[in-house]
Amino acid sequence: VAQEGGPGSAGAAPAGPVAATGPRAERFGGRLVLVTGAASGIGRATALAFAAAGARVVAVDRDAGGAARTAELARRAGALKAWAEVVDVSDEGAMEKLAAKVAGEYGVVDVLVNNAGIGMSGPFLETSSEDWRKVLDVNLWGVIHGCRLFGRQMADRGQGGHIVNIASAAAYQPSRSLPAYGTSKAAVLMLSQSLRAELADRDIGVTAVCPGFINTGITSTSRFTGVDAAEERRRQRRAARLYELRNYPPEKVADAILRAVLRNSAVVPVTPEARGTLLLSRFAPKV
Ligand code: NAD
Repeated sequence: VAQEGGPGSAGAAPAGPVAATGPRAERFGGRLVLVTGAASGIGRATALAFAAAGARVVAVDRDAGGAARTAELARRAGALKAWAEVVDVSDEGAMEKLAAKVAGEYGVVDVLVNNAGIGMSGPFLETSSEDWRKVLDVNLWGVIHGCRLFGRQMADRGQGGHIVNIASAAAYQPSRSLPAYGTSKAAVLMLSQSLRAELADRDIGVTAVCPGFINTGITSTSRFTGVDAAEERRRQRRAARLYELRNYPPEKVADAILRAVLRNSAVVPVTPEARGTLLLSRFAPKV
């Protein structure tokens, strides 16, 4: 499913598009930016931030309605063009089709943001193999597919580009409650750093962005394995309160992502606690 339209073809007059001016517009104006997991949270905020800089935006998600809404909001925010594509990032065949379609119809992606992800919590001894596969399929394999397919296109074109992978503070902060999620994100962090070394001389930057607690819907997709439904509901409420308490909006992560691309940063811990734990992890005693 694809929907197309620039500011002129969006039907009703857009509600005050943000003028695309300044260094961001200079760098991203007219560029092709593909964001996965763009139907909500950090992904939607990121798609809209690139849109406001005048980029052409491809909003990818498995949630068709949410992706279409993001594409529409992107047009209103000033995107030169915006499309919605419905794809499950963990499905290699579907990602191959997406990569071929994007290259054929929209062009080579200049900035790829591998953001789609799911939460998964619960102690290691209680986490089933099925849950491990679920979280690794989306959080790790989804990023591998995106990096390989769109990274190849960038490399073949020979005009550089940038890949942003959304990891997490959980990538370097061991925790009893997030063994599967943290492992998936640690793998994304190492993949990003390795790929960064590999692609540096092709002028393709790779950044791992590591947010801490961000106020989004991710707690509602989180699972706690090995507990009953009532305990699961209580845990969801506790988590939601904690996220609200920190009150760090996804727009700030989007802002950090655009800055990271402009500066070609390697690893970006976004929130204060993510920065703190990264610092501490560097001083962790060696055993
Ligand atoms: P969210 O649940 O609001 O958004 C995730 C989006 O990804 C949703 O639109 C969902 O439909 C989509 N998605 C999930 N699985 C998919 C799949 N297989 N294929 C395509 N789309 C899929 O959550 P968010 O907080 O915005 O999370 C975005 C990213 O940020 C995730 O990778 C998450 O792990 C990471 N992150 C979030 C936080 C936080 O506190 N919210 C902290 C650190 C890292």
